[in-house]
Amino acid sequence: MEKTEKRIEELREQINYHNYRYYVLDSPEISDAEYDALMAELRRLEEEHPQLITPESPTQRVGAAPVEAFGVVEHLVPLLSLANVFSYDELLAWHRRASNLIPGRSMDFVCELKLDGLAVALTYSDGRLATGATRGDGYRGEDITQNLRTIRSIPLSLRKDAPKKFEVRGEVYLSKAGFEKLNEERAREGQPLFANPRNAAAGSVRQLDPRITVKRPLDIYIYALGWAEGNVPPTHWETLEYLKSLGFKMSPYNAYVTDIGEVENYHRHWLEERENIEFETDGIVIKINSLDLQRQLGVVGHDPRWAVAYKFPAIQATTRLLDIGISVGRTGSLNPFAILEPVSVGGVTIKQAALHNEEDIRRKDIRIGDTVIVQRAGEVIPQVVGPVVSKRSGEERIFVMPSRCPACGGEVVKPQGEAVARCINTSCPAQIYELLTHFVSRPAMDIDGIGEKLAAALLNSGLIKDVADLYPLRKHDLAALERMGEKSAANVINAIERSKDRPLFRVIFALGIRHVGAETAELLASHFGDMDGLVKASEEELLSVPTIGPKIADSIHLFFREEANLKVIEKLRKAGVRLQEEAAKAKELPLVGQEFVVTGRLEDFPRSETEARIKELGGAVVSSVTRKTTFLVVGADPGSKLEKARALGTRLLSEEEFLHLLEEANK
Ligand SMILES: [Zn+2]
Repeated sequence: MEKTEKRIEELREQINYHNYRYYVLDSPEISDAEYDALMAELRRLEEEHPQLITPESPTQRVGAAPVEAFGVVEHLVPLLSLANVFSYDELLAWHRRASNLIPGRSMDFVCELKLDGLAVALTYSDGRLATGATRGDGYRGEDITQNLRTIRSIPLSLRKDAPKKFEVRGEVYLSKAGFEKLNEERAREGQPLFANPRNAAAGSVRQLDPRITVKRPLDIYIYALGWAEGNVPPTHWETLEYLKSLGFKMSPYNAYVTDIGEVENYHRHWLEERENIEFETDGIVIKINSLDLQRQLGVVGHDPRWAVAYKFPAIQATTRLLDIGISVGRTGSLNPFAILEPVSVGGVTIKQAALHNEEDIRRKDIRIGDTVIVQRAGEVIPQVVGPVVSKRSGEERIFVMPSRCPACGGEVVKPQGEAVARCINTSCPAQIYELLTHFVSRPAMDIDGIGEKLAAALLNSGLIKDVADLYPLRKHDLAALERMGEKSAANVINAIERSKDRPLFRVIFALGIRHVGAETAELLASHFGDMDGLVKASEEELLSVPTIGPKIADSIHLFFREEANLKVIEKLRKAGVRLQEEAAKAKELPLVGQEFVVTGRLEDFPRSETEARIKELGGAVVSSVTRKTTFLVVGADPGSKLEKARALGTRLLSEEEFLHLLEEANK
């Protein structure tokens, strides 16, 4: 046993060393096959002796189960943002301001390339990775430790003695090559493509399931020590060297310079070499080297005075506009986008770019077949700047907005005085995703637990074709979806059920009628009192409602002229969603005078939920069975209450019968 333990130790040490050579230094000493053999041996020994597995073992990078949501991490020292400068003059002005605050002190600098990724903070405790968090708002971030553990250039344990507790900061990123590869894979699998490496990195790190994160080619560069318990070097440059000696991965582009003129040279050099940098960068970061001076200069607003970002200008390229496609947005807006002959812009291949709207296309006179200038700046979606008119052959075509929605064939309307054309069909598949996320949102129907992922899964599986299809969903429908736990499925079903009794104005708001916000919805609800009145209202009647002008009236009128929208309303009604003001309901609560006791575990509801529903309908819930008890609801593994109820002759309800009773009572 002791021998095994020793061998396991040895293997871990060797694997960590080779990991470090491979992922951090990029200079492996052994072949992949040799490395795999070491890993295989360690895995086998750990399988035979599971009690010897530790969280720091190299086999345990992906050990964690998916989480439902990320926890919150408070940053001990806030992660600041940086002020930007765009020219050498502005850089000199920054330098002058700093110099004036610390007269007579000379400065040296560290220059770094500004990575376009996701900033994270890693806390180490007793030489082990304790937590990893996103920057968040700078003060509180999300706990993404399990995902960051999957990045092999992040050490789980350190290579030598380190402060007892400290935090390092770094940027998680995807290289350009990794990004292109990832998008190629996604294209093959028919998944939506990431717009840029930054989005891809952020999306990958914020996966709830670390098994997805591990498949993404993420990497990290550490760029600062956040804080430490104990002594640390006096300058930023020495700190970086020190962190490197602990096993952290440092950007090879970092440079130490002694003069602001050298900063300008560094900037110019990498601007020219931009294409050859392995990752996306939109500028450089300059930090004053002395940590003592950094402390003296301090922070103004959210920006430190001792550091600044010196941005690169946007990069442009020319290519051919092959066609103009249309995507359908949240409120049915038809958004034209450019389909381009693939072109490399600053090292990233661009195949599509934004085109705003029809008028913008006309104003810039962009024609299909044109040679166009495309531009990328930082994380923004690439844009078409304009056509190169001199390159026209005469075969170019002028773009015309389609009169039917490309996603559903529905009617396209362009209200007067507006730049954007819209599809007004609520059941349009392209819109329904956005509409669904609006429908379930807190100010609308407030259905907890339906996030973006579940919304997409519901639509893709065909379980839902419009928002009203939420209501007939049953627990087993959801449980059949990928990675949906029993318990979360039950919670979602509960939340859907509860939403049936929302006030009328929230239902009106949830429909997503253009220009109808929560406030307007309240006015409409109190004016009409029920949905039918609103549906049938003429434009004239709508205009008689205080503060409702022609724009809103027109939009409401159009909405209820669409057959698909009327169908949604009918389905909501059939599902039992309340479509009138509370006052109009005025019927007595159906379960008044009835006493319920619940025993055992219910499949569809947590206990508290069950009790709340009974009380809402006027019933009473007590904890023990007496002669007064009307019903005993019997779940799985019932307790002694069942015997007592049998002895007293109390009516028993199975879960199914109970649900049926609730449904009846709800009618
Ligand atoms: Zn449509």
